[in-house]
Amino acid sequence: MMTVTTMTPEQVLSAYWERGKLPIDPEVIAKKAGLRVKNMDPFRPDEDQNAIGAYCPPENGNPAIIEVDKDEPLNRVRFTLAHELGHHFLGHNEKLHRDTKKQFNIYNFDPRESAANNFAAKLLMPAQYVKVLIENKKITNLKDLAKIFNVSEVAMKIRLEKLNYIKS
Ligand SMILES: [Zn+2]
Repeated sequence: MMTVTTMTPEQVLSAYWERGKLPIDPEVIAKKAGLRVKNMDPFRPDEDQNAIGAYCPPENGNPAIIEVDKDEPLNRVRFTLAHELGHHFLGHNEKLHRDTKKQFNIYNFDPRESAANNFAAKLLMPAQYVKVLIENKKITNLKDLAKIFNVSEVAMKIRLEKLNYIKS
């Protein structure tokens, strides 16, 4: 089995992303990190027909693969990609992993899924960038911030709550 060096979202950004550039593109990061990104095959016969994302760890010298359903709205595709990158960089790499929509729910308390969701939120909406936009550029409108980060307003709201900019 190949091991993946675990990395924090901050380390991933500094290794694979141009500092300060927004919105952050998780597909570009995945490719720079040597993963393959594929559109999910909707006709593949498997028990998880509802999967919208999957992570296949590296094996036998082959790179790790992320599959994502690109027919979903762009916000969701981006968050799914970042979530699967979370599984990769958090070292959840012993087997193929599929995610249905319920894996992305904030009320999913499976520790790996919530860790992957946290990773995704930090990757797409880094604390430092949020701080600059709100405190220096005085952009405080939720809709505007969601647009700049190219995330859903729900994801942006959860992030602002976590960073104590708004009350939950
Ligand atoms: Zn997952």
